[in-house]
Amino acid sequence: MTKISDISKPIIIAGPCSAETEDQVIQTAQKLKAGGKVDILRAGIWKPRTRPNSFEGIGEIGLEWLINAGKETGIPVITEVANAKHVELCLKAGFTKLWIGARTTVNPFAVQEIADALEGSNVEILVKNPINPDLNLWIGAIERFKNVGIEEVHAIHRGFSSVMSRKYRNDPMWEIPLALKRHFPDINLICDPSHITGNRDMIFDVAQKAMDLIYDGLMIETHIDPENAWSDADQQVTPNSLIEIIDNLVIRKESPEGIQVSEDLSELRSKINEIDAELIKLIAQRMKVAEEIGQYKKEHNITILQPKRWAEIKELQLENAERNGLSAKFVSKYLEAIHQESIRHQTAVMNKK
Ligand code: PEP
Ligand code: MN
Repeated sequence: MTKISDISKPIIIAGPCSAETEDQVIQTAQKLKAGGKVDILRAGIWKPRTRPNSFEGIGEIGLEWLINAGKETGIPVITEVANAKHVELCLKAGFTKLWIGARTTVNPFAVQEIADALEGSNVEILVKNPINPDLNLWIGAIERFKNVGIEEVHAIHRGFSSVMSRKYRNDPMWEIPLALKRHFPDINLICDPSHITGNRDMIFDVAQKAMDLIYDGLMIETHIDPENAWSDADQQVTPNSLIEIIDNLVIRKESPEGIQVSEDLSELRSKINEIDAELIKLIAQRMKVAEEIGQYKKEHNITILQPKRWAEIKELQLENAERNGLSAKFVSKYLEAIHQESIRHQTAVMNKK
C-alpha cells in the first residue's frame, strides 16, 4: 500500500468530481495513467449536493468501478465518505484511502461516527476544511481521527463559503490552512483549486500560489468530457489540461540546497524590518492623537463613535490606497483594525476617573 506521506511532493490527486459510468471512470484512469503525473485517483460516489434533485452520486456500484480502475492502472484510489455505512461499504470494497467532505467536517457527530467506524483499520484519511471558516472545527475533525488511532491523517484546503468572495466559488482565506499547518506541522496539506475557484480557467493560478505557500500537493477534478460532467462541470479539466497545468507549475524551494540566502535578500529583509518598525511607531503616534481627541470628547460630552467622520476617513484613505496600488480589501481591513484600536484607546481615556 502506497502511504500518502511516502509520495514525493507535490502529491497529485486527480479524477472526476463524480463517478458517472464504468466507462467514464476507466477511461479517465487510463488517460491519467498515460500522462504519468497522478499519484492518487479520485472520484465521488456519494455526492453531498447543496440542493436535492441534482445528481447525488451513482452510489455503491461505483465503488467497484473505482477499485477496478485502480487495479488496472496501478494508481491508488480515494473516495469520499460521509457516514458509517459509507465506511463499511468502502472497507468491504478494499479502499485504503478516504476523504471527508467539507459539509461533513462541520459536523462533529458525523466525524466521530466515521472515526469510530474506522477504528482498527489502517485507512488513510484526508480531511477537507469545513465550509465555514472555523480553524478549530478543522483541527477537531483531524483530532477525532488521530484519537481512534489513524496514523495517516492529512488535510485538503478547498476554500470557505463566504458572502464576500465574488471572484471564487469558495474564498481561499489562505491564513486558515497555513495556521492548520503550523498546528500540525507533520500533516500533508493538499490544495483543491477546483472547489476554490469553481472555474477551470483560474485553477493554474491558485495551484501555483499553493506551491509558493509550500503546500504538499494538489487535488484537481479531471474529467474526460468536462463540459458534460454530471456535477461541477465548470471546474473540471481534461486529462491533457491537467498535465499542462502540472507541467507549467514552477516548484520553488523554501531554502534551495547549496545556495546561501544571498546578501541582496538579507538587505531587502532588513529594509522590510525597518519599514515595519517605522509603521508601528507611526501607528502609536496616531493612537496618541486619538487619545487627545478622546480627552476632548470627554470634556464636551461627545460620543466616541462618530459615523460621519469614520466614513470620511475611509473614503479618503481608500482613494489614497488606489493611487498607491494597494487593494481596497486590504486597506479596508487595515482601517477597520486601526479604528478598533483607536476606539480602545479613546474608551480608556473616557473611563479614566
Ligand atoms: C468533492 O471533492 O467533490 C467535494 C464534494 O468537495 P467539497 O467537500 O470540498 O465540496
Ligand atoms: Mn466536485
